Amino acid sequence: MDAVFQITERDLREAIEGAQLVVYYQPKVSLSAEEGFDVHACEALVRWQHPQYGMVFPDAFIPLAEATGLISPLTDRVVAATVNQIRLWEDQGLSLSVAVNLTPRLLDDLELPDRFSDLMERHGLPASRLIVEITESGAMADATKTTDILVRFRLKGFGLSLDDFGTGYSSLVQLHRMPFSEMKIDRSFVMDMDHDEEAKAIVHSIVHLGHNLGLHLCAEGVETLDSLKWLREAGCETAQGYYMSRPIPAEDVPSWRDEWLAKDMEPRGVNYGTKTLGL
Ligand code: C2E
Ligand code: MG
Ligand code: MG
Repeated sequence: MDAVFQITERDLREAIEGAQLVVYYQPKVSLSAEEGFDVHACEALVRWQHPQYGMVFPDAFIPLAEATGLISPLTDRVVAATVNQIRLWEDQGLSLSVAVNLTPRLLDDLELPDRFSDLMERHGLPASRLIVEITESGAMADATKTTDILVRFRLKGFGLSLDDFGTGYSSLVQLHRMPFSEMKIDRSFVMDMDHDEEAKAIVHSIVHLGHNLGLHLCAEGVETLDSLKWLREAGCETAQGYYMSRPIPAEDVPSWRDEWLAKDMEPRGVNYGTKTLGL
């Protein structure tokens, strides 16, 4: 956060109640050859369109939201906007699953899975189209509590993703007990892969561990074609990162996808059998 920012609880409350929060979406690209690098999912990431400071990123206000309890109405807003957006895309013929970030503080609220479920139903969408992301450190802080609410989410049919994996302290027993469907490899490892053999070794180990636990793997922070290629060879199922796309406004997602899929028309680039990634 920039030192010139003076964000107060009152400002944030107004932002949540007003229309200053916007949700951006970052595509997740499928790496399997059959899927042909298609896009079936993305992650919802909140931004604050501040009247004075312009676009403010979540790291600058999520901690304040957590400390003040405003994270609860903030999350409600983000989830409502996201589910509405999944419906809008669906109506345009674009079927996407979308992940939302859930702060560990909210894991106390055992009615959350029911509320999310009702919301999906009201929009005529199956629960599987919403994925709940919880960071590894958040999930493991109170593993018993986390497991309780995660089981409820899973029983309702939501996807569950373990975010920023590799930065927390999971025990294998805890990991095994928690009903996650996906593991996201922390971007700190992925971003270093091109120039750091150790980072590669860590990513490889995480992919193996995740697969052995029956989870899908998503690599976050993919900034180069080399790392994308390498992840695909390593068996990682999906990738997210600036190489493919930064988080973008909802209305830009369909045209971004069209451009991304059209890249196989490009003769330069790397051939993956069914598709050539042009540069
Ligand atoms: P996250 O959930 O791990 O989200 C991924 C972050 O990595 C995003 O930052 C995204 O822009 C960034 N990223 C993705 N690909 C790349 C890449 O190739 N290179 C680099 N350098 N960065 C990449 P963002 O949007 O600033 O969000 C930061 C964090 O704020 C998120 O990390 C998440 O923990 C939190 N956050 C965002 N939206 C929400 C929300 O609605 N609720 C809650 N509780 N937390 C949120
Ligand atoms: Mg996330
Ligand atoms: Mg992450």
